[in-house]
Amino acid sequence: MKQIAILGSTGSIGVNALRVIDEHPKEFKVAVLAARRNTELLFEQAKKYRPKLVCLFENETVFELERKLKPLHIRVVTGESGLIEASTFRGADQVIFSIVGAVGLKPMLAAVSAGKRVAIANKEPLVMAGGLLMAEAKKSGATVLPIDSEHSGLWQCLQGRDAKTVRKLILTASGGPFFGKKVDFRKVTKQKALEHPKWKMGPKITIDSATMMNKGLEVIEAAHLFGVSPDRIEVLIHPEAMIHAMIEFVDGAQLAQLGIPDMRLPIQYAMSYPERLQNLLPSLDLANTGPFHFYKPDLKKFPCLRLGYEAIRKGGTMPIVLNAANEVAVQWFLNERISFDVIPKIIEGVMAKHRCVAHSSLDEILCIDHWAREKAEALC
Ligand code: MG
Repeated sequence: MKQIAILGSTGSIGVNALRVIDEHPKEFKVAVLAARRNTELLFEQAKKYRPKLVCLFENETVFELERKLKPLHIRVVTGESGLIEASTFRGADQVIFSIVGAVGLKPMLAAVSAGKRVAIANKEPLVMAGGLLMAEAKKSGATVLPIDSEHSGLWQCLQGRDAKTVRKLILTASGGPFFGKKVDFRKVTKQKALEHPKWKMGPKITIDSATMMNKGLEVIEAAHLFGVSPDRIEVLIHPEAMIHAMIEFVDGAQLAQLGIPDMRLPIQYAMSYPERLQNLLPSLDLANTGPFHFYKPDLKKFPCLRLGYEAIRKGGTMPIVLNAANEVAVQWFLNERISFDVIPKIIEGVMAKHRCVAHSSLDEILCIDHWAREKAEALC
């Protein structure tokens, strides 16, 4: 039985990971749960799954949680040190990172250094420090597995392939709520931007999908996970979101990975790999799905995708700046303090101010992350 740690257990990926565990009680057991601030749901989850360790990242209500979990003999930790303790917990075989944002970086690096099997939905640390994380995994023998649906698709297509025979990787994108629509981005409301047509996700990634920054981050994520130059990674709009990724071989043959748009599929595969487990999810029924459509992305309408490519082509520290400025701008938009069209302008403005260098250490990465956040705040 695999002992699982879920960091970000109250978010959409975390809740779906628990549903996978519910369906496979003989294969998986919850060892650790961690959440940012949703104390009530975290308590309910802890009561049901009885992990050994629980982390509540923000500490306002941690005493109350501690008191409630004491009779169940569940230890409670908090803050960054607590999250690192959760990510490196001895009793866990596999750590699922479903945290949102840069806050996942330190615990992820710690888990990778500890040689854990790490399944990643939290893309921001890979964007900021993909080189460092993958190098560290090589050293420690950690296994890094993708949960992001497109990357899971690529991973499934690439298994057993000789890298020399693969010409390019293709990530699909639903296009978000504004694809194919005439929209005045100055007037887009928060509610409209949060209406994703295909996936039900947390607010940060949903806004990233609306700006298409999500796909920009995913190009960077794929470059690191699969060790491929960004020039060999393409984005294809596919509004039905049934094909998640494709690869093309040097002879022009392509392979695609298909499945219903339900995150339990990539989550379960990252948990069960190299096995495949049965489940109760419906099959993809192509005869009743209707036609598939494909389009080239519009980089003029969605400059965030262009900025993603620019950042990874520049390489070095530029993706850190892209990610930090984006996190800040999205938060300002969610707080209804800047308009939707300003998000890419903030990111581009901070990137223009940055003198890109090749980075190596965690300290340097965190330092540049901090710098870019300050600059972005000032621009907002
Ligand atoms: Mg994705």
